Amino acid sequence: MQCGTCGHAKVLPTKTTVQEWREGKLYVVRDVPVERCPNCGEEYFAPSVMDALEALLEHPTKAEPVTALALQYA
Ligand SMILES: [Zn+2]
Repeated sequence: MQCGTCGHAKVLPTKTTVQEWREGKLYVVRDVPVERCPNCGEEYFAPSVMDALEALLEHPTKAEPVTALALQYA
């Protein structure tokens, strides 16, 4: 697949961490399959991955808390 942002010839399959805010909570999903452009870093999720992510965020299973620090600028 060609990158739609910079036109690079090939995006490469890899894994990424998705972070999503829902109702005041931050959800972190590790090891999400994605295709990333090695030139500009744009990431492309397959529709099936988007659906699976949505289902996981709607009904989180095996969630573990992570440490986060919220700071106020000025
Ligand atoms: Zn690109």
